[in-house]
Amino acid sequence: MGGCDVIVAGGGPAGAAAALVLARVGRRVLLATGAAGDEFRVGESLPPVARLLLRDLGVLDRFLAECHAPCYGNVSVWGGADPVSTDFIFDPNGHGWHLDRIRFDRMLRAAARDAGAIVIPGTRLAGMARNGQGWQVALSGSTGASEVVSCRWLIDATGRAAHVARQAGAVRTRDDALIAFYCRFRQVTGTRADRDSRTAVEAGPDGWWYSARVPSGERVVAFFTDVDLVDKPTMLTRAGFATGLLGSRYVRELLSGYTAISTPRGVDAGTGHLDAPLGDRWVAVGDAALSFDPLSSQGLVNALFTGLTAGRAVDRALDQDPVGLADYRSRLAGIERAYRRNREVYYAAEQRWPDRPFWRRRTTGPPPGSPRESG
Ligand SMILES: Cc1cc2nc3c(=O)[nH]c(=O)nc-3n(C[C@H](O)[C@H](O)[C@H](O)COP(=O)(O)OP(=O)(O)OC[C@H]3O[C@@H](n4cnc5c(N)ncnc54)[C@H](O)[C@@H]3O)c2cc1C
Repeated sequence: MGGCDVIVAGGGPAGAAAALVLARVGRRVLLATGAAGDEFRVGESLPPVARLLLRDLGVLDRFLAECHAPCYGNVSVWGGADPVSTDFIFDPNGHGWHLDRIRFDRMLRAAARDAGAIVIPGTRLAGMARNGQGWQVALSGSTGASEVVSCRWLIDATGRAAHVARQAGAVRTRDDALIAFYCRFRQVTGTRADRDSRTAVEAGPDGWWYSARVPSGERVVAFFTDVDLVDKPTMLTRAGFATGLLGSRYVRELLSGYTAISTPRGVDAGTGHLDAPLGDRWVAVGDAALSFDPLSSQGLVNALFTGLTAGRAVDRALDQDPVGLADYRSRLAGIERAYRRNREVYYAAEQRWPDRPFWRRRTTGPPPGSPRESG
């Protein structure tokens, strides 16, 4: 394969959005997707404002044709024992969605490919080294075969791994040790159809529960806590997860008539950021640049926005115009400030367990010496 203008590492929403934008303006762009993308992925709540970004990316019609499940609001048991409902009827962008994440991510990659990007599924960026005009990048496929490709710019869309940024010397700092345990549930035949389209969130003494009904009719259920506050091996069993669920009331009731159909899994869900989101001929987007506590429901919107904005900025940088990248850096800083303010407000709204570590940590700020990860 010859050289290209840009290699995007990571085929999630941020990487696909960046590749799409660059391919549309005629740049030769290669998208190395990483994981093949056909396994279930958690992260399905898409807020109404995403409509604007999907429109700006030129994929709104394609997205709407896929019939993801509309979500008409949220219900939260937070700050008190009674559920409080928030309706999207007051949102100028209409309703949100509960996505089939595999289909959503695949649609974005297909749009990038249709725009002219070279999309290589199941291929990872395995190594990178500077050359005169950009980078020499080693790509390795799922079969173990590898290939070296040169490019002028690299986009890091590898999610929380921030693989490119860390190899380029950036340092990723995590604010917390939030972990999510999630499991899928299906209704038992013969039970009354569940028509609750809202996203449910319920606080508990050691963390919070989440549930959403996805287009297949299944419910995704997740428990968020700090990794040191839970017995991880136990929560990774169906029995342990079910026992944990007894600590919730609202989410447990939502699940009456449901049965677990997957083995629970645990994933990092913490807030993290890079000391520098861009450097000499590389830029990070999505979770690689800034990862959010899923309570914010902001991860996908940020992935689409940063992919779009950084894609445009790199297009300008390829023409020796650095203004787009400077603008990107300052927008990202603004997003991070707003996110931190909102997160503080959300957690402060729950005051029922001030002495429990999970809540104390979130109302008194990060402990000194937050964990740092370098490349
Ligand atoms: C438990 C949980 C629940 C969540 N719920 C929501 C929600 O309801 N709503 C919401 O908006 N957000 C949610 N999020 C966040 C959301 O999923 C992420 O913000 C979003 O997926 C980020 O997109 P991304 O493209 O930056 O990264 P990702 O989607 O993580 O994609 C990164 C891609 O990079 C690939 N990759 C990794 N290393 C390499 C490499 N070396 N080379 C090439 N590719 C590589 C990976 O295989 C992956 O495909 C949730 C997150 C968690 C953990």
